[in-house]
Amino acid sequence: MGDKTCLFCNGTGKDRCTACEGKGKVGGFIGIGGKPCPVCEGSGEASCDRCAGTGKEN
Ligand SMILES: [Zn+2]
Ligand SMILES: [Zn+2]
Repeated sequence: MGDKTCLFCNGTGKDRCTACEGKGKVGGFIGIGGKPCPVCEGSGEASCDRCAGTGKEN
């Protein structure tokens, strides 16, 4: 146990940032700037909630 790949993130340990919906930016409109997302710092990714970013199921 403990070594199963997390099916939620497929073992990447990452999930799409819900604050910016994976875009990495907030505010603005499609095709127009906006600010870098403060939650994911512009990466558009967040740690997987299910495995806490480890990529493995507990
Ligand atoms: Zn974000
Ligand atoms: Zn996961």
